[in-house]
Amino acid sequence: MKKYAFVLISALCLLLAGCGARSDASAARSRTVFAMDTVMNLTVYGGNEDTLRVAEEELHRLDDALARTREGSDVYTLNHSGSVRSIDAARLFARADEIAAATDGAFDVTIAPVLALWGFGENADGQHVPDAGAIAEALRYVGREHVSRGSDGVEVRLDLPAQVDFGGIAKGYAAMQLSNIFSSTITGAVLDLGGDVCVIGKKPDGADWRIAVKDPADGERFLGVLEASDICVMTSGVYERYFEENGVRYHHIIDPRTGWPADNGIVSATVICRDGIWADALATALCVLGAESAETLRQSLAETMPFDYILVTDGNAVRYTCAGFTPEKTGPYSYEQVS
Ligand code: AMP
Ligand code: MG
Repeated sequence: MKKYAFVLISALCLLLAGCGARSDASAARSRTVFAMDTVMNLTVYGGNEDTLRVAEEELHRLDDALARTREGSDVYTLNHSGSVRSIDAARLFARADEIAAATDGAFDVTIAPVLALWGFGENADGQHVPDAGAIAEALRYVGREHVSRGSDGVEVRLDLPAQVDFGGIAKGYAAMQLSNIFSSTITGAVLDLGGDVCVIGKKPDGADWRIAVKDPADGERFLGVLEASDICVMTSGVYERYFEENGVRYHHIIDPRTGWPADNGIVSATVICRDGIWADALATALCVLGAESAETLRQSLAETMPFDYILVTDGNAVRYTCAGFTPEKTGPYSYEQVS
């Protein structure tokens, strides 16, 4: 199994020309943090050393709270005792519930029992193709109806043996938490959470940030460059975590309708959205849904949660909808503008 951390760090890369040391070195501060199984690079403009220290502490706190298989974490407690008082779990569940409804269950944090069966998130030695009966049994506990929130907004309850896994949404939540922490204290920021990126404000020279989207088939190449401000760009890919059995690859994004790794012709889905939680979850969801349903979903959310995507499909075709995206002209791809 490839290590998530080191694949994701190269999944997206920021082109920071003109915004770092050259024009305003004294205002730029950076810090590298290892959390959520990935290397994160935070750069803020304005603020002070405390800004990044507090941000790092928050990332470690969230890592500790949300790790499904770490004994004592909020999620571990919820999954094993059936309830937990956790503001993070309560907030995450509230958002996950909206997203599960919007994606018709393609993104569903109650997928955890099925993930556990396949051995994802566990010790890599335990990864194997489960038998069909076990998958059918685990799917009985997948669904939003198995989770509820207490009226105080802090308690989350679960009908055991249902379980939740926030792996598909945690980095988006972390990005949103950091931008809340930074809010008035900085002039701009680049949060690179292992290749999933949120940019806050504009570059110090007033221009949009340039975010290069890497080619999943070739880490040395870009699919293209996106120019935007105050935006999150999150990528999910079937190549990020997987194991092989009898020469077949099985990846970590599970289709809740079948209990099997999603098989809809998507190699990677990059979602561009102002809300990091939705960007993160939708990237995972689009891998499940496939290209046609991705477009239907984009149109249905156009008023309430507008987003764009860059999809790489089997055969390395690229479909994208974002106006700020400039495809790499020399790539081996045929580009198809959907909107
Ligand atoms: P990401 O890298 O954001 O696509 O998240 C992938 C992770 O999300 C997996 O490693 C699982 O922890 C979790 N996951 C897998 N399939 C789903 C699904 N259908 N809905 C929600 N979470 C999922
Ligand atoms: Mg995700």
